[in-house]
Amino acid sequence: MSANDEKLPRCSECKTRNKICRVEDGQGPTYCPTIKMSEVIEHACTEYDKPDIKEFARYASIQEGECYVNKGANNPNARYAIKPRVQETIEFCHKMGYKRLGLAFCDGLRKEAAILTEILKTQGFEVASVVCKTGRTPKEFLGLTEDQKINPGSFESMCSPIVQAAVLNEAETDFNILVGLCVGHDSLFMKYSKALCTALVVKDRVTGHNPLAAIQLYESYYSKLIKQEFKKGGSVTVSVKEND
Ligand code: SF4
Repeated sequence: MSANDEKLPRCSECKTRNKICRVEDGQGPTYCPTIKMSEVIEHACTEYDKPDIKEFARYASIQEGECYVNKGANNPNARYAIKPRVQETIEFCHKMGYKRLGLAFCDGLRKEAAILTEILKTQGFEVASVVCKTGRTPKEFLGLTEDQKINPGSFESMCSPIVQAAVLNEAETDFNILVGLCVGHDSLFMKYSKALCTALVVKDRVTGHNPLAAIQLYESYYSKLIKQEFKKGGSVTVSVKEND
């Protein structure tokens, strides 16, 4: 499937007004997965036949609906959301009957992880937590050179998401919460965690861990996101369009 292939699903580019994924008599563009990928959809939905998966998905959707008040089709503009994600996470964990939660946190968010631990314990959960630097494995283990470290010339422990997952697997946590793991480290943690995971905080050192800030400012302060190419290896090349 190539980028130009009409089979490539491209929902993020869809401008259809009455979308078929939302209304029964709706439409979709030529690359619409709801129209073009019915077999894939049908097969994927068989996963929900597994009782534990179905229960998890059902409570996740119930939790989604419970974020709103003043619900009802008569006056959709009156509806508004009332729960921050941390509250939703707590309520969801109670719905699922979880007792022991795991926190996989970044060393840079140690203070926030401590506060979250206190909150979760107050809410009746047992909390196992593990910092990204656990194991004190040197970055040289991954083949990093001095200039690839944050502080060249110093010992640096690598972030070790596989270790974090292994520690929480050993602790037999019911559900794991990611708190500020880096890009890629979060991916490995989710791959190796036995328990299902949710990301409460995603790492963004520049925006106070709010990646949307840069996306929403892409036409002003972060215009480099569409004016520069960020190439493999971290080098930056400027490509200015003709009409710039
Ligand atoms: S599923 Fe189809 S209609 Fe819905 S957003 Fe994607 S392309 Fe558009």
